[in-house]
Amino acid sequence: LGETIGENLRRTVERHGDREALVACSQGFRASYRQLWELTTQAALGLLALGVKKGDRVGLWSPNRYEWVVAQYAMARVGAILVNLNPAYKTSELEYALRQSGTGVLLLAKGFRQTDYRAMVAEVRPQCPELKTSLVLDEDWAGLLAQGAAVSADTLAEREASLQFDDAINIQYTSGTTGFPKGATLSHHNVLNNGFFIGETLRYGPEDRVCIPVPFYHCFGMVIGNLACTSHGACMVIPAEAFEPLAVMEAVQAERCTSLYGVPTMFIAELDHPRFGEFDFRSLRTGVMAGSPCPVEVMKNVQARMNMREVTICYGMTETSPVSTQSSLEDPLDRRVSTVGRVHPHLEVKIVDPESGAVVPRGTAGELCTRGYSVMLGYWNNPEATHAAIDPAGWMHTGDLATLDAEGYVKIVGRIKDMIIRGGENVSPREVEEFLHTHPGVSEAQVIGVPSEKYGEEVMAWVRAKPGVALTEAELEAFCKGRIATFKIPRYWKFVDAFPMTVTGKVQKFRMREQSVAELGLQRAAA
Ligand code: ATP
Ligand code: MG
Repeated sequence: LGETIGENLRRTVERHGDREALVACSQGFRASYRQLWELTTQAALGLLALGVKKGDRVGLWSPNRYEWVVAQYAMARVGAILVNLNPAYKTSELEYALRQSGTGVLLLAKGFRQTDYRAMVAEVRPQCPELKTSLVLDEDWAGLLAQGAAVSADTLAEREASLQFDDAINIQYTSGTTGFPKGATLSHHNVLNNGFFIGETLRYGPEDRVCIPVPFYHCFGMVIGNLACTSHGACMVIPAEAFEPLAVMEAVQAERCTSLYGVPTMFIAELDHPRFGEFDFRSLRTGVMAGSPCPVEVMKNVQARMNMREVTICYGMTETSPVSTQSSLEDPLDRRVSTVGRVHPHLEVKIVDPESGAVVPRGTAGELCTRGYSVMLGYWNNPEATHAAIDPAGWMHTGDLATLDAEGYVKIVGRIKDMIIRGGENVSPREVEEFLHTHPGVSEAQVIGVPSEKYGEEVMAWVRAKPGVALTEAELEAFCKGRIATFKIPRYWKFVDAFPMTVTGKVQKFRMREQSVAELGLQRAAA
């Protein structure tokens, strides 16, 4: 689509104005497409009244609420660059993102969970000289909309006419799974088209009602969520401000959702919930699991027990707006659950040797590279990092290890940074995790490499047992013996109730490693 996000929304409003566009369950909010358009117009006029110019950075720091969605489209309509701020940021991360992006206007929630956002903004403000205005959604939202009345509709129309589809509209900080977040700069063209093709793959139409428990501040929520819906006239359903398994299941049932999203840990939390059996999932048809490796067992459970016959897996990254590959509804079941599907329309993928950059033979693991309309404009204000990630021919080097088979299906083997090398043997944590998930008592397994004098690295598994199941090292070791190669059997085990995670629900293996190294070090010293 060669249009801006605002133009695309206007077309949907023309076609489906009376259909429901947005439901925020915990806020008791509902709007049709026409009402959503009205609200975004008022908010856009409000931003113009604040003096927001094209290209100005406007921060949005809030958990999932309907105002987030309205603000997202309002900013796109005035050509502001939306800076998505993670609701879990601590002061140092907030300060980094505001300074790094040069945010001038900040829309924020009063707070989230135990944190007082206003106090945190007051604390970082002296270090953020470019931050001129901050508005609290809970208090100043109505005022922002009212303020817009002073601006003429023509001013907004002129601004909209001055926008180009390839203008930057978004600085998306990456999840921070492997370290410090980087600010990917994305255009209307990047995210709108990606959302559109995701909706095409899921066969979205105005009958669809999509439950979005993933955070909007991340491209999973903003693109696979909002833009895939609005480009097809589907309805966005927000169960709660942040992920809560019960709220998700209630929303699916009460709103008769046809599609449900989540990272694997979210689906696991729903399936394991003591009240799971009380809910009716018959309205569900499809959905997306993405963001981190999706264990085959979990996919199968989601299909069978949640009625998501047409669930798909997406693979991608913030830097590629985000989706590069997706399984499709036509794919045979085994392919749909065990691969991340095939390359999306109008994009290219190739697998290269990370050292030499040469394309590897089919079926061999190497670094996945992707090219096409979805590749970011670059990292905001960081040309070195941009050049390191995107080569002169336009290929984005993902840092992920993958294979590509003869029919074009991509399998993600793991992240280059996470691969374990034990005594010269490569161990893919992913493979060991998949195996451990086949044990009936295992709810979730995460595998890392920890330093070893003898082998360079040793395999370690962190395991969360299913509720009410007592697992032991001896039991799991016996389960592995004879079924996976001896060098892949974890040398260390740790039983946990939770894993260190980003707010998107991604397991931070670098934190697991830090913690394990410290703990094992202590154990060794004691012995
Ligand atoms: P950071 O770059 O800050 O360390 P991050 O890479 O987790 O964090 P995102 O852009 O949110 O930030 O995530 C993209 C990464 O998530 C991909 O590079 C890949 O490693 C992983 N990923 C996404 N989807 C899948 C999937 N379906 N299967 C396996 N891994 C996935
Ligand atoms: Mg990344």
